[in-house]
Amino acid sequence: MRNEKLNHYQKVLLLLLLSSCCLIIACNEIKTKNKEIIKSIQFESQNLTKNKIELAIQPLAFSDTSTLNWIKQNIENYYQFNVKILPNIPLPKQAYYKPRNRYRADTIIRFLRHNKPKKIQYIIGFTANDISTTKNEYPDFGIMGLGFVPGPSCVVSTYRLKTSDDNLLKERIAKVVLHEIGHNLGLPHCTNHCFMHAAEASIKQVDAEPLDLCKECKKNINFLE
Ligand SMILES: [Zn+2]
Ligand SMILES: [Zn+2]
Repeated sequence: MRNEKLNHYQKVLLLLLLSSCCLIIACNEIKTKNKEIIKSIQFESQNLTKNKIELAIQPLAFSDTSTLNWIKQNIENYYQFNVKILPNIPLPKQAYYKPRNRYRADTIIRFLRHNKPKKIQYIIGFTANDISTTKNEYPDFGIMGLGFVPGPSCVVSTYRLKTSDDNLLKERIAKVVLHEIGHNLGLPHCTNHCFMHAAEASIKQVDAEPLDLCKECKKNINFLE
């Protein structure tokens, strides 16, 4: 009778052991499957993060669609962002600087930041009107573009990029646009052969630089490596 009882307990114990072994094996299988799923989610989210950066071009009293499309193409190709062109709007009145018939770039940047669609990370204002900022001893200094390091908004003007050579104009626009966005992405001025080189209001300097970042600047924007 006692032996039979023991046998019964032994059987139960054996069954328990076997079932726990089965459970452990099953868990391991689930763990491996989960690892694969996690891997694929991480891979997808990495791709999503890369594609997720949204930038808007805000035309400011600017209606030349072929130039706007040229800017869009350059930003998409170089920074791999999703770019959309917003409807044309007038320049903000509060940015107007009557003594020199110019618009203050700092005020435009602030205006763009406040009016930026929430889903969009970066916004670039684009205009043909003259823009200016305070620079050292000059209270109102004419500039080609302005962007803070880092920041969500920047502005570019074609006013100081003018030339009768259409291809050169396009190249200048692309360089200044990519330069100001580079500032927003955290890049300071660079002394290498690079479009982040300080132009100091000299169009010659813009023309001398390539339509590309140097290796050091690329390293600082990790998704360009
Ligand atoms: Zn700059
Ligand atoms: Zn550089």
